[in-house]
Amino acid sequence: MVKVKRRRAVISRDIYVACGSCEDVCPKGAARVIRGSYAEADASLCIGCGRCEMVCPAGAITMEVAE
Ligand code: SF4
Repeated sequence: MVKVKRRRAVISRDIYVACGSCEDVCPKGAARVIRGSYAEADASLCIGCGRCEMVCPAGAITMEVAE
């Protein structure tokens, strides 16, 4: 049986620019801008589709293998 590794989005607060692009494209409502200053991806909602990573103009989002 092949085991599929889950991925999830991780957003760096150091380089995030709060543009909201991730929030706009997230199909699960997992990526959210908080108080207009930073963003986070709720790991319990994230399905690892990678859309937020593709649209982020700052390159602040990386996909990591979920534990
Ligand atoms: S990887 Fe997909 S589901 Fe997860 S936060 Fe990014 S856009 Fe949303």
